[in-house]
Amino acid sequence: MQQSVLEQMHSMGHEQVVFCQDPHTGLNAIIAIHNTTLGPSLGGTRLWNYDNHEHALIDALRLSRGMTYKSAISGLNLGGGKAVLIGDAHKLKNEAFWRRYGKFVNSLNGKYITAEDVNTSSSDMEYIGMETKFVTGKPEYMGGSGDPSPLTAYGVYMGMKAAAKKAWGSDVLTGKKVLVQGAGNVGQYLMGHLVEEGAKVLVCDIHENKVKQAKAKYPAIEVIPSTDIFDHEFDIYAPCALGATVNTDSINKMKCPVIAGAANNQLADENVHGPMLVEKGIIYVPDFLINAGGIINISIELDGYNHARAINTVGKIYDRTLDIFHVAEKDKVHTQLAAMRIAEKRLQDIANLRVGI
Ligand code: NAD
Repeated sequence: MQQSVLEQMHSMGHEQVVFCQDPHTGLNAIIAIHNTTLGPSLGGTRLWNYDNHEHALIDALRLSRGMTYKSAISGLNLGGGKAVLIGDAHKLKNEAFWRRYGKFVNSLNGKYITAEDVNTSSSDMEYIGMETKFVTGKPEYMGGSGDPSPLTAYGVYMGMKAAAKKAWGSDVLTGKKVLVQGAGNVGQYLMGHLVEEGAKVLVCDIHENKVKQAKAKYPAIEVIPSTDIFDHEFDIYAPCALGATVNTDSINKMKCPVIAGAANNQLADENVHGPMLVEKGIIYVPDFLINAGGIINISIELDGYNHARAINTVGKIYDRTLDIFHVAEKDKVHTQLAAMRIAEKRLQDIANLRVGI
């Protein structure tokens, strides 16, 4: 029998889930607040045409829990939250829709702070911001941090360098062959860092215009087809497109010693594929650590945005990645599990601070 909403909240540890609907604007929203031990929950608003409401709820629950871990491992004083809006982005997006949603966010009095995600942009945040101050990732002309992708890419680059240090004893990427899967926002900024350092970049995307755009920016990159990517030889695999690309089939084909990329939920099943990577000697940088540059960037906006501070804080992904390798080795666990344990320990330690004076 299918679990009720409360049963799902119990099993995943959620504090609160809010359902919102408005017939005038067509808004149907689920705001999931997973954990506020470290601070108010922060997470983007995803607008997606889900097959059914159950899928939307599962997405909100999983994504918000993921945000708790991402903020905890990144040293942020923020909790995990996420909102999903159900429907067709082309039909729904307008000023009234976003402002109605902004009113719902405001009704939570800061327990949930929203930001952009799939199908939402910093200009949508501007409308939300007309109804609530609990929004971040606003456009630069409003004093916001704007597009988070450059900082996400910078974090991936730093995590990749740490992985290189672990694999080859040096974090220099000059001459290393890196496959960037997905020439989207993050992928293209990542290529910029790699090309600048003298890495050899292979790139693939299912959309030809994206690889054309990337090639025009960085003529040195080599474009390969998006199918059978593991037939190619490279040192580092950087998944920057979609999740679950690290699975039994792909791991069996992989010849590269390092995986370091921006995509969320890279391991199809962390309990199976985490250990499988260890067995094969492949160094994996946990996704929720390496792709935290975007959330770190928007979190800095909450205190008044400062780009230098954002760069500096995102740069710490390098040391955190090395720490995780160290713990994984010491505890004889895969890196994803080591990162989760470190995040859980921080949550527990800070929760303990609340006991007593
Ligand atoms: P994007 O949509 O701009 O880029 C993704 C690219 O991947 C697109 O160009 C798409 O055509 C391509 N793609 C899709 N399927 C593919 C396939 N099978 N093979 C090759 N290419 C394929 O997204 P983005 O903002 O660059 O984000 C990339 C990934 O990083 C996503 O998984 C996202 O969830 C994650 N992420 C992004 C940020 C951010 O700041 N943008 C932050 C954290 C995580």
